[in-house]
Amino acid sequence: MRITADTTICISAGMCALTAPGVFDQGDNDGLVAVVLPDPPEELRKAAAEAVRLCPSGALGIR
Ligand code: SF4
Repeated sequence: MRITADTTICISAGMCALTAPGVFDQGDNDGLVAVVLPDPPEELRKAAAEAVRLCPSGALGIR
């Protein structure tokens, strides 16, 4: 699995960090997404995929 994030599209909504906090974080100042674990372990993959699905801006991708 490979998680990608486009910070030029991210609107700092925070759904990703709420849904999969071990995989995503947000910048302290701008709230932009940071992918902490681009290749999450098995136990976090379901939450990571759900976070990608829920992102309101379409900034996240999954392969
Ligand atoms: S859910 Fe999408 S728009 Fe919101 S912080 Fe995460 S990547 Fe950005």
